[in-house]
Amino acid sequence: MSLYYTVTVYVLAGLLGVCVGSFLNVVIYRVPIGESLSHPSSHCPKCGRALRWYDNIPLLSFLILRGKCRSCGARISFRYFAVELANMLLWLLSVFLFWEKSIPFAVIAAVTSSVLLCVSFIDLDHSLVPDRFVVILGLVGAAAAFFDPYYGWLSHLLGGAIGLAAFWGIAFIYYKIRGREGLGGGDIKLAAACGLLLGWERLLLSVLAASVAASVVLGVLSRRDGKKDEESEGSGEYPFAPFLSAAFALALFFGNYIISAYLSLLSF
Ligand SMILES: [Zn+2]
Repeated sequence: MSLYYTVTVYVLAGLLGVCVGSFLNVVIYRVPIGESLSHPSSHCPKCGRALRWYDNIPLLSFLILRGKCRSCGARISFRYFAVELANMLLWLLSVFLFWEKSIPFAVIAAVTSSVLLCVSFIDLDHSLVPDRFVVILGLVGAAAAFFDPYYGWLSHLLGGAIGLAAFWGIAFIYYKIRGREGLGGGDIKLAAACGLLLGWERLLLSVLAASVAASVVLGVLSRRDGKKDEESEGSGEYPFAPFLSAAFALALFFGNYIISAYLSLLSF
């Protein structure tokens, strides 16, 4: 790639990434409560004042206003800033890792990481994974099967089937043993869609990573407020989708490196 071309691609990916990140904040807030994405325009949740364009510039406005509403001074959650920054970095990473190998796959990676970002925060807030995000991931997954520069379509097809079967199986067994739901239906559909997206090799890696991360974090959390939850069993359900999403993203971006490093270790 020529320098001029490279710089242009990165600048566009960064700008577009941060703007889409800003839009994701709206999606995360409005989709679960059934509000329209376009109407009303962005406003302060406290005083209702509509944001002017200069108060609505991704990243910059938050810094200039120091995280406060211009008219009433109410705190604006740092999360808005974090989501914009995270989405920008994920889009830059997509370009960095995949653009030269396959432009469609770089786009797929960027779209996927944005959707996973939404899924994580919506699950954190509302303990649900809306179907429309799973459908988007499934469609992107079908495209990934054709454009993946590392694994073929058969791997992706198997990934979808294994994701569905394994998570449904785990949920079924858990339900039989504990008598209550451990994995939600949303998690199962999410695993199937991401299996299709990742291929079975990366899926395996991500499930491993998600389980380890979840048991560490949830172990610490449940030890901290453990006694309360033991009494009210069933209500102490922790969201699993943020762990799954983070692991899916990790596997999407670095899976082929991790897997080939692991395989080369084995061949010694
Ligand atoms: Zn306000």
